[in-house]
Amino acid sequence: MIGGAMKETIKVLVTGGAGFLGSNLCQRLLEQGKQVTCLDNFYTGKKENLSALLRYPTFKVIQHDVCQAINLDVDAIYHLACPASPPHYQRDPIQTTKTNILGALNMLELAKNLQVPILLTSTSEVYGDPHVHPQKEEYWGNVNCIGPRACYDEGKRCAETLFMDYHRMHQVDIRIARIFNTYGPKMCKDDGRVVSNFIVQALQNKPLTIYGSGEQSRSFCYVDDQISGLISLMEKPNLHTPVNIGNPIEKSMNEIAQLVLTLTPSNSRLVYHPLPVDDPKQRCPDISKAKAQLGWEPKVDLTTGLQRTISYFSALLERTESVVAQ
Ligand code: NAD
Ligand code: UDP
Repeated sequence: MIGGAMKETIKVLVTGGAGFLGSNLCQRLLEQGKQVTCLDNFYTGKKENLSALLRYPTFKVIQHDVCQAINLDVDAIYHLACPASPPHYQRDPIQTTKTNILGALNMLELAKNLQVPILLTSTSEVYGDPHVHPQKEEYWGNVNCIGPRACYDEGKRCAETLFMDYHRMHQVDIRIARIFNTYGPKMCKDDGRVVSNFIVQALQNKPLTIYGSGEQSRSFCYVDDQISGLISLMEKPNLHTPVNIGNPIEKSMNEIAQLVLTLTPSNSRLVYHPLPVDDPKQRCPDISKAKAQLGWEPKVDLTTGLQRTISYFSALLERTESVVAQ
């Protein structure tokens, strides 16, 4: 399976396809003419994310938990299923660990049996609270294995281990994307991650909730760039080691809050809350591997990406308010 000509990919499985990234990925693949099967248990995913996609006769939705094995006939698998926002993945941490590990095992078995490529959406969380900055793929990370984030961080680290071992033992044609904070349309308004929280709070003239001093940093990638990166990685033959996919422009949470206030017609103020346990102090991808191996780099600047996301949430909130008023 490895090294040979890749079978033409027509039928694509996207696990977690009803979520933020999954629904954007399904949309792009459908636009490219693929037949797309979205597999999701709707733990954090939303049926509304799929409503526009159901117009495509080539789109199919299967409600299923990746912790259970499944047999399907597909040519490639994007394995995204897993809650990604800290409040959601910490809601039932045992379920999050199961989703990461049993989900990876079941999807790897499927890829092995079908002899098709499979991409894991791993995360910058594998670097934990990093001592190396910016983070390169060679860095092994600094993760607290008994903290409240461990169900996600260690779950993803173990999923990466399983991917590498299926590659070494069974020659499965794997890809591992280490995704850094990504934002954009189709996030839910109660997602809990910082960009959606700040925008929804600003649009509702509620205080913007900054955790800790607000001086901790993240690097935010617009969703369209992220999806292009994931597809480029899947289509790159013989790249079986992890690749960082993210935007290396680093910002503090105070800077993000100020920018959101500048871009919205808001009179919100800032309020400071305690920093969650094990919240990483800094995060920035070194994307030289993605640039060299995939010819990929992000194109959408933060202001443009935030403006598009603000327009999406304005329309979403207007729709929700008009439904409540009826
Ligand atoms: P999301 O929570 O919006 O989507 C996750 C999807 O997975 C949801 O539709 C959910 O219902 C589904 N799901 C969860 N558990 C499942 C299970 N057991 N069986 C079937 N479906 C299940 O999150 P997202 O931001 O779209 O993230 C998608 C993937 O990308 C995740 O694997 C996440 O770890 C990874 N990732 C995302 C980011 C980011 O910034 N968005 C950063 C790093 C990694
Ligand atoms: N954060 C914040 N206010 C919020 C939500 C998050 O200040 O309303 C902070 C959070 O503590 C973290 C950063 O924003 O330092 C990014 O948080 P997010 O949950 O978006 O992603 P992650 O921590 O997984 O990188």
